[in-house]
Amino acid sequence: MNRHIAIYPGSFDPFTNGHMDIARRGLEIFDTVVIAVSNNSEKNSLFSVAERVDMLMTLTEDNPRLRVETFDGLLVDYVVAKKARVILRGLRAVTDFEFEFQLAQMNHTVCEQVETLFMMTSPKFAYLSSSIVKEVGRLGGDISKFVPHLVKEELLKKFGIN
Ligand code: ADP
Repeated sequence: MNRHIAIYPGSFDPFTNGHMDIARRGLEIFDTVVIAVSNNSEKNSLFSVAERVDMLMTLTEDNPRLRVETFDGLLVDYVVAKKARVILRGLRAVTDFEFEFQLAQMNHTVCEQVETLFMMTSPKFAYLSSSIVKEVGRLGGDISKFVPHLVKEELLKKFGIN
């Protein structure tokens, strides 16, 4: 069992500065943080999984301790297959709590050795979500402060804005 690795799962559609903040703070505690892009297709996504992974590969290339992977199916199965035991998640507001609480309980019940660790958002990212960024971007608002430059470029391309 690898105690030095944390799995940071999510949709990351797209990856925001809030996500990066959690991943980088995770690296202060763990040797390796695996950003695990969920391949479950139930959510209507703007970027394909391949597009999200491509962006993430570029965004993390300066840091070998940040890895990027995808997973299908049950998160706990993936975590166990990685011989990891920690799932890293971010919490923004009380509204995140209910869902995250349920998910963490479920995952722990399915697999007892897997623990979910939560990191509170940095206040400056408390309001930030992929959905908000997509909405503001689609309407032509300035999203420079919310996402890495590469993500901004790709979002504008998707919306046919330049
Ligand atoms: P999911 O579809 O699994 O919720 P997201 O890509 O929306 O995936 O989020 C992945 C993780 O990052 C979740 O734990 C979420 O709470 C966290 N997160 C998202 N935005 C922020 C933010 N601005 N600050 C802190 N954590 C965040």
